[in-house]
Amino acid sequence: MLDLIFNVMWWIASVIAPAFICWIAGIILLRFEAGRVIITIACKIMWLLFVVGIVGIIIGNRYMEWFRFAPFLMFLKTPVPTLFQVILQLSGMVITPIIYKFKLPSKENYTLRGDYILPFTGKWTVVNGGLHKKISHSWGILTQRYAYDFIIVDDEGKSSSGDRKSVHNYHCYGKDIIAPADGVVVKLYNKHKDSMVDGKSAYCNASRIQGNYIIIKHNEFEYSMIAHIMRDSIAVKVGDMVKQGDIIAKCGNTGNSSEPHIHFQLQAGTSLFLSAGLPIAFTNINAQDKKNYDVLDKRSCDDNLQVVGNKSYIGRGLEVENTILIGV
Ligand SMILES: [Zn+2]
Repeated sequence: MLDLIFNVMWWIASVIAPAFICWIAGIILLRFEAGRVIITIACKIMWLLFVVGIVGIIIGNRYMEWFRFAPFLMFLKTPVPTLFQVILQLSGMVITPIIYKFKLPSKENYTLRGDYILPFTGKWTVVNGGLHKKISHSWGILTQRYAYDFIIVDDEGKSSSGDRKSVHNYHCYGKDIIAPADGVVVKLYNKHKDSMVDGKSAYCNASRIQGNYIIIKHNEFEYSMIAHIMRDSIAVKVGDMVKQGDIIAKCGNTGNSSEPHIHFQLQAGTSLFLSAGLPIAFTNINAQDKKNYDVLDKRSCDDNLQVVGNKSYIGRGLEVENTILIGV
């Protein structure tokens, strides 16, 4: 019995210790330009190193064996609490279908109870999101199956001008976020600092992958979640009633993010891990293919727009805006 307890503790320590060491190393290295380069290279070659580790185990080379810990290098740029959120997300992928009796909401079987507008003013571009697997934000992560990432892209197909290492140079940074529908604020967090940007990979300098966020309850079955909000920009508090179009926060780059953007999703409850994501038909919007989108992103934009009356299901590569001007 003692042996078993010792083995379990050893196993836990061998997971937590390297993750923790990498996390602390990451906090220090991220402060220096050279450190960031080291992290980028380390994360690029970590799977190669892992293979070396596995080969080491197979052939019994005790030096090569150490490289089995290489995947923990990901914690150089992502804090340890994210590990637990990733575990919760993975659990959600198994538990959520059971909660919903294997009938997850889809365009075919779910009609929205509320009318939702886009959570911003002006023209933004969908960079992740859509109704089907190929363009979905994250098809396998069920809360985020129908989530959207919105950014502002200029006519040259760029989301920033100048140095991509400063959040201030991104077109959407600091822009207003508005309430997509009437509702009551049920959850929020406002104190994370922006994560680092380098114009390429995602970093998470926060203990929550969603960074600063707001959840608004619109009705018994529909909650909107907006993430990566700028620190201290949330203008509402839990319990506040909001009206569609109210300015509630500003776009930021907090949490796990590759560049400033608005992450928006509708979900059937308040849990970020167990509530099913809902397909969103936005009301009264304009949507058209973004000019020069392929400069920014070469991924598929197939079948990215379905219009039913005054409602639109949108997807990657579209430039979108509300047609009913807010606050005018
Ligand atoms: Zn997102």
